[in-house]
Amino acid sequence: MRAGLFGGTFNPIHNGHLMVARKVLDRLALDRLHLIPCWTPPHKHPDYLAPADDRVRMIRLALPGDARIHLSEIEIQRRGPSYTIDTVDAFRTRLAPGADLFLVMGLDAFLDIHTWKDHQSLLAVVQPVVVTREIANAEPEADPMTRMDDFIRNQLSADYRLQDGENRWRTPAGRAIHHLSTRPVAVSSTMVRRRVREGKAITDLVPPAVGAYIERRELYR
Ligand code: ATP
Repeated sequence: MRAGLFGGTFNPIHNGHLMVARKVLDRLALDRLHLIPCWTPPHKHPDYLAPADDRVRMIRLALPGDARIHLSEIEIQRRGPSYTIDTVDAFRTRLAPGADLFLVMGLDAFLDIHTWKDHQSLLAVVQPVVVTREIANAEPEADPMTRMDDFIRNQLSADYRLQDGENRWRTPAGRAIHHLSTRPVAVSSTMVRRRVREGKAITDLVPPAVGAYIERRELYR
């Protein structure tokens, strides 16, 4: 069994998230991928955070069409600060021994992973899958492989080696980190919220059912 975990605020879920989910499933030949919306206190958010219940419903509306993608409400139910190691430990107790667990994240999040709670234990049990992204009006992330290589060897462990001809680092003990190069989709939740606030269409940014839900519930206005 090869399972992936993909956490985020999903405020709201958009086509960029869905593209990443499908690419990770296909390229890493995963059996399933769990989308895990986080519990974030509303006052911690820079502009507007929709209630957890609405964010969860929008994920449900976006999912039909790919039976490999699942919603997990584990962090919403747990409330409080969500540490990835706690979420990963909870999943590991449910998975069969020997299952491979992958953790999907953006490059920015990955370059901060050395500050995460118990990050070395985390890297021993999950394989990060790092995606780069491009946001309109922003510089594309420069040469992600070089940035990752410097970071991995200087901040994580000198044992990691980039595998020839592959977007993957490995240690002799079997730890692995993957870089997923994708054609960037210039969509973010911030962009969706801004467009809604400005009364503009979001049909090109979110699945139709999510757009209809945002309109019906008058979210992000
Ligand atoms: P916001 O604009 O509110 O910060 P977001 O669009 O970044 O939100 P999140 O729910 O915070 O969405 O993202 C969850 C994960 O999905 C992060 O690891 C993020 O890097 C990744 N992600 C989001 N949008 C894209 C995209 N268009 N391409 C690649 N990765 C993305």
